[in-house]
Amino acid sequence: MTDLQFDLSEENGTEPAAFKRRLDAARLQDLLAGCATLTAPVELALSARRQGGQVVFSGSARGEWELPCVRCLGPARAPFRAALEGEAPLSGATFDATEGLRQALHLALPLGPRCRPDCRGLCPECGADRNQGTCGCRPDEFAARRNDA
Ligand SMILES: [Zn+2]
Ligand SMILES: [Zn+2]
Repeated sequence: MTDLQFDLSEENGTEPAAFKRRLDAARLQDLLAGCATLTAPVELALSARRQGGQVVFSGSARGEWELPCVRCLGPARAPFRAALEGEAPLSGATFDATEGLRQALHLALPLGPRCRPDCRGLCPECGADRNQGTCGCRPDEFAARRNDA
């Protein structure tokens, strides 16, 4: 059994089976296909029951990841909570939640990650990181105000 296979042989058809697992970040990294880097173990909580020849599951995955800041491209680190919900084929008495977790993680990716709420981004003229100080280019007040909106 891999980290993401779950045994339902104890599930009796009335109560869903509940699972809690702490998953190694390095082993889940491929699921994110380069969109983010996991920086902490992922805490997975699942409940699952059989339905026909399938498994219906729901739960959540919590962890922390790092993405490029949309303004300065520096690292933006954030905790996340991804909701899992779906069906998986039953194989013997086990099912595999890899695909469910992959989808949940992608749906939870933030659209505009920022290294900090007031990140000043890169100078459009010279590319300097404006969080590190002023670069000496002519300040473009209009653009600065528009970026902050
Ligand atoms: Zn930033
Ligand atoms: Zn500049």
